[in-house]
Amino acid sequence: MTILARIVRFLLWLLVLSLSVRALRRLFGLLLENRGSSPQHAAKGSASPPPTKTGRHLVRDPVCGMYVDETLSIPMREDGELLHFCSIACRDAYVVSSKKFAASG
Ligand SMILES: [Zn+2]
Repeated sequence: MTILARIVRFLLWLLVLSLSVRALRRLFGLLLENRGSSPQHAAKGSASPPPTKTGRHLVRDPVCGMYVDETLSIPMREDGELLHFCSIACRDAYVVSSKKFAASG
């Protein structure tokens, strides 16, 4: 009889634990959803470079379209215009494509 009572008590504990875990998970899920949805709201739908928290200037790589910190970018002056690239590979790609363009046209 005592063994049966222990088993029942154990089962009740399991039930309570699983219910509380489920409730906690749902609570955390809601919190995470709320946190995830709010920043997207502000950042989406703008063509301008994403704002930085530190106020640093971001420049756009014309080859791959990536935004790079101006201090980390690879600058190149062409026709009086200063271009910024995320990497030397992108800069070389730009030089090659512009040369091709000039040769064909
Ligand atoms: Zn790039």
